Amino acid sequence: MSPPAVHRVAVVGGGIGGLALARALVRKGIDAHVYEQAPSFSSTAGAGFILQPNGSACLQAIGVPRDEIEQIVHPLRDVTLIGGAGRLLARSNAFGDMQRRYAQPLGGALRAELVDVLAHPLAAEHRIHWASRVVAVAQDDEGVTATLETGERVRADILIGADGVHSQIAYAIDAAHERLLRESPRPGGYRFQPALGTNSYEHERVFYGVILDADLPFRHEELGNPHTLLEELSHGEFISYGLGRGRDERSADGGPCRALMWMQTVREAGDYKARDEWTAARDPARANDALRAFIARSPFHDDHPIREAAERTARGRLSSFPISARAHRDVWHHGRICLLGDAAHATLPYTAQGLNMSIEDAVVLADVLADADASGSPVHAAFAAYTRVRHARTKACVAQAEANAALLRSRAALLDRWRDSLLGAVVSGGVLQYAFNAQIEGCPVDIQSARAA
Ligand SMILES: Cc1cc2nc3c(=O)[nH]c(=O)nc-3n(C[C@H](O)[C@H](O)[C@H](O)COP(=O)(O)OP(=O)(O)OC[C@H]3O[C@@H](n4cnc5c(N)ncnc54)[C@H](O)[C@@H]3O)c2cc1C
Repeated sequence: MSPPAVHRVAVVGGGIGGLALARALVRKGIDAHVYEQAPSFSSTAGAGFILQPNGSACLQAIGVPRDEIEQIVHPLRDVTLIGGAGRLLARSNAFGDMQRRYAQPLGGALRAELVDVLAHPLAAEHRIHWASRVVAVAQDDEGVTATLETGERVRADILIGADGVHSQIAYAIDAAHERLLRESPRPGGYRFQPALGTNSYEHERVFYGVILDADLPFRHEELGNPHTLLEELSHGEFISYGLGRGRDERSADGGPCRALMWMQTVREAGDYKARDEWTAARDPARANDALRAFIARSPFHDDHPIREAAERTARGRLSSFPISARAHRDVWHHGRICLLGDAAHATLPYTAQGLNMSIEDAVVLADVLADADASGSPVHAAFAAYTRVRHARTKACVAQAEANAALLRSRAALLDRWRDSLLGAVVSGGVLQYAFNAQIEGCPVDIQSARAA
C-alpha cells in the first residue's frame, strides 16, 4: 500500500466547518491545525441554528459522542405558522415525524455550544491557533505557505479555506484570479484584497436575538411553546425556536437553562459592505436602537411575538446586520488549496441546512483525503472527488434557499395573502414534511448506521 499523500493540513477558519473537518482529519490520523482570526472562544458569539438529522449523523461519524450532541440540542417537534395578529394559521408535526423517522438528535442549538463541543479535544492537543488571521497564501510543488497577520508563516501539505461567507481563500483559488497568483509581487503568493471580501445580499437585513430565561412564562402562547418552530410573515420573516442546554450565564455554575432564539428579516434594499458581521454586529447599543426603530416604523400588531421577544432578549445577545450571500461556486480547489462550507456554498438562512451542509462537507473531505495515496496526482484527485460528491447537493440547497427567499419577501398585500394560504397548506398538508425529508436524503453518512454507532 502506498503511504498517505497528506500528512499535515492547515485549516483556515475555526467555524463549524473548519472545526468539524479538523476533528474528522485527526480521527483519521492526519495532523490538522486550525487558524482562526478570533482572539479566543466566545460563548456569546452568534445565536442559534437547527441541527438536522443529517448534521447529527455526520457529527457522530467524525467522533462526536451522541450524548454530547443531545446535551446541546433542544428537541423540536412542531412547525407553527401564525398570522400577524397571532392567529394560528397552520401547525405540523414535521420535526416530530423526522425524529421518529431518523431517530437522530434534531432541534435548536446555540452555535457557540457546538463550537465548544467540536473545539474541546482539538484545543487539548493545541491544534487551534486563535488570533491567527491568515492574510496571504502561496503554494508550490511541495506544499502551501500561509502567512498570518503577525508575520508568522505556516507550512502544510494542503490548505483548506473554511473561512466563511466572506472567504478570501476563495479568491486565491478562483480561476479568474490565477493571474494574480502568478503575477503577485510576492513570489507565487496571493495577498488578500480587502475590497473583494464583501458579499452582501441586497434585499434584506436581519435581527437575531437570544432569550436566556426561556423557562419563565411568556405572554405569547406560541412563543412560549418549547418544542415549536414559530413562523410569522407579515413584515419580513419572524421565526423562533428553543435552544439546547443554554448554559445559564447568570448563574455561577453555568447550570442548565433553556434558551430561545428568534430571527426577524427586514425587507430593505441597500448596498451593504459587511465583513465579519457576526462580530461587528455585536454593538449592543446600535443593535437595540435599530430594533426599536424598526418596530416603531413597522405596523406590527400589538400581539406580534416580536414585541415580547425584543423585551426579553438578553443583554448583548442582539445582532443586526445585512444578510450576506455569495454565488454557489463551480471551482472549489486549485492545486493544494480547497474550499469547504460557506466559502464554497453559503446559503441564505431559509432552509435551516447551511450549517449542516458544512458538517457534511467535513465528512466527505476527510474521507477522500485519508484515502488519497501518494501515487499519481493524489491531492488533485481527492479534491476533485470531494467536489463531485458535494457540488450538486449544496447547489440544490442554495437554490432552495433562494426560492424560499423570493417567496418570503413578496411585498404586495395580495401576494402576501396568497403566500400565507400557500404556506399554510404547505405546513399542514404534508408538503413541508416531504421537503424536509428530501433535504435529508443524500446525506453522505448512512443515518441508520450512525444511529447504531
Ligand atoms: C461568529 C459567528 C456566529 C455565527 N452564528 C450563527 C448563528 O447563530 N446561526 C446561524 O445559522 N449561522 C451562524 N453563523 C454562520 C454559520 O456558522 C455558517 O453559515 C455555517 O456554519 C458554515 O460554517 P463555516 O465554517 O463555513 O463558516 P463560519 O461558521 O462563518 O466560520 C468561518 C470562520 O473563519 C474565520 N475566518 C474568516 N477569515 C479568516 C482568516 N482570513 N483567517 C482566519 N480565520 C478566518 C471566521 O472568524 C470564522 O470563525 C455564524 C458565523 C460566525 C463566524
